[in-house]
Amino acid sequence: MGEAFDYQAVVESVAAAPTRTALQELRNQWVGKKGWITEQMKGLSRLSPEERRERGALLNQWREAVLEALTNREEALLDAEERATLAAEGLDLTLPGRRPQAGLLHPMTRVRRRVEDVLLRLGFSLAYGPQVETEWYNFEALNMPADHPARDMQDSFFVDVPGLVLRTQTSPVQIRSMERHQGRLPVKIMAPGVTYRRDDDATHVPMFQQVEGLVVDTAISLADLTGTLTVMVHELLGSQVGTRFRPSYFPFTEPSVEMDVTCAVCEGSGCRVCKGTGWVEILGSGIVHPVVLKNGGYDPDEVSGFAFGMGIERVAMRLFGLDDLRLLYQNDLRYLERFQSGGGRGIS
Ligand SMILES: [Zn+2]
Repeated sequence: MGEAFDYQAVVESVAAAPTRTALQELRNQWVGKKGWITEQMKGLSRLSPEERRERGALLNQWREAVLEALTNREEALLDAEERATLAAEGLDLTLPGRRPQAGLLHPMTRVRRRVEDVLLRLGFSLAYGPQVETEWYNFEALNMPADHPARDMQDSFFVDVPGLVLRTQTSPVQIRSMERHQGRLPVKIMAPGVTYRRDDDATHVPMFQQVEGLVVDTAISLADLTGTLTVMVHELLGSQVGTRFRPSYFPFTEPSVEMDVTCAVCEGSGCRVCKGTGWVEILGSGIVHPVVLKNGGYDPDEVSGFAFGMGIERVAMRLFGLDDLRLLYQNDLRYLERFQSGGGRGIS
């Protein structure tokens, strides 16, 4: 046989094929089902074994070279077609892309983290408890038996399972933390989290966030309470803010005190917001009631403690200068973005 075949010329014609249709014709002509190389390979069986080996190797080499040229040319033509389409559609690939909008933290999350940061620096560690709580942890263990009038102060959401309630406060974490410490001292925890009450007006929402603080050790006094909370409030709101403590009543502390800060609107001179007093309440606190210590597994004759509970929304209203809390939870991005850095009375 030994028929002359200029495969270089074939490869060159493939590389120069002007269209994919022309390319397909070349493919058919040379390596298709009835292509010349294919036909030649079919004819190998008529040759002697020695000739077949020699001719077969040559045909394979040609076939591979042609196939490779076909693939390369096809890719180049597809590329060119794509560029032509883009040009026809007027797409300018050098235009800068649209930057995807990165997520932002909800303003309440940022305020909560700020409170946590301050308390971490003051030596408190984080503690958590369930949001669906037993009546024992939410009321009884905190010195509020079933007939206690303080339970009327809290409009609770009960769940279908008897004995369970959506926690009305973060205080049940006090008992749970003392139990976890198993009598060890000191207990110094903060418990941030959501709580639920049937309230809904400009300054109350049915689901709100609190942070609870509890310190139990030997010889903890009201002086530890006022000192710690004054530092915390100054760190949160600024050292120019005036503070005062008023006697109050909570079932789980004795004595109980509420802490006020100077009104942000009138700075203490008296206005509509502070009802003319110059002060607004920021948190409730007190010396842990002996019954609560006992329920947490501590001996009230040996140890003492103080506790506080602060509404994180209160802090947010103060930091952002809000008069309607509900807007924060309607999750309108245009509104929430005002409280990112640089907007509104943003926080760092
Ligand atoms: Zn005021």
